[in-house]
Amino acid sequence: MNSIERVGAAIELREPDRVPVDLHDFQVAARASGLPMSEIFRDGALLAEAMLTAWREFGHDMILLENGTACNAEACGMEVRYGNDTAPVVGRPLLDSLSEVANLQVPDPYVTFPMSEILKATRILAREIGDKAWICARADQGPMDLAAELRGISEFMMDLATGEEEDLVHALLDYARRVATRYAYALIECGGRSTSIGEPIAGPSMISPRQYSQYPWAHERRMVTELKEHGIILHLHICGNTERITDEFIATGAQVLEIDHKTDAVHLKAAARDTTCLLGNIDTNLLALGSVGEVDVACHELLDACKHGGGFILGPGCAMAPTTPSENIHALVESAKKYGSYRRA
Ligand SMILES: [Zn+2]
Repeated sequence: MNSIERVGAAIELREPDRVPVDLHDFQVAARASGLPMSEIFRDGALLAEAMLTAWREFGHDMILLENGTACNAEACGMEVRYGNDTAPVVGRPLLDSLSEVANLQVPDPYVTFPMSEILKATRILAREIGDKAWICARADQGPMDLAAELRGISEFMMDLATGEEEDLVHALLDYARRVATRYAYALIECGGRSTSIGEPIAGPSMISPRQYSQYPWAHERRMVTELKEHGIILHLHICGNTERITDEFIATGAQVLEIDHKTDAVHLKAAARDTTCLLGNIDTNLLALGSVGEVDVACHELLDACKHGGGFILGPGCAMAPTTPSENIHALVESAKKYGSYRRA
């Protein structure tokens, strides 16, 4: 099997020859290039070259392509700060009040920075290695995360807590969903095999399970459903421990759930069995600071616990730190070959 077949089988909940591996490595790749991240993350050609170089070194099955957690927000008109050794960070919120959502336009990804640059990177990766590696071109922030950035996180948390303008909260979440969905179509048109949304603000460390059900859940599910109707695979990434929203997380219908190391993968695997593929969830701190031996043990344990029956992709639980040592990343990738085989002895 090649990487495309291997990942495809895992997502279709069949057993491939072995567990596929993804890397969430855009910051590692950017740092390794030696150029300032502020240049790499603004330039699709440079980003693609960095991701290609990393893929040639590590040979992972799935590439997660993105430039951070501010792409959609910037395309919507927010100010974003690019640092030389960090991922882009959003500036002051765009909306002073929820009612301003009526003035927002959904950006055209083909002509709006920085989406247009990520589309360029997607085209380059697809042209160069699209038949050898599975390219997940990420549609960046999901409804909850983008809505919180546009409104300001603390203001948005207050909007949710008071519940006084519930209709306008849903209008903002709906707008954010349409932004990410429009972008997702473009990423697939440019050669992505799947796409993904990140929802760091949707996890139980940020909002209650009741708020998750009341607010972002229906918008995430609607996005999944619409894309699925067009044959597009969407991954849903929620940071933190998702145990208290296990049923809702699965019920979004996302074909791949990207899980944080704080989530109990064994528990979620049991709950998601025959429903959805899991991707994760090695601790990014362990990858950044642990030894090769510790990474190998953690991967071995996780593979033993989660590989059975297919539907599992090994990878980091979130974006790896830029300083993650390459020997630990090699240990992660190699562990799937050592311990992830489905061939019967
Ligand atoms: Zn995460």
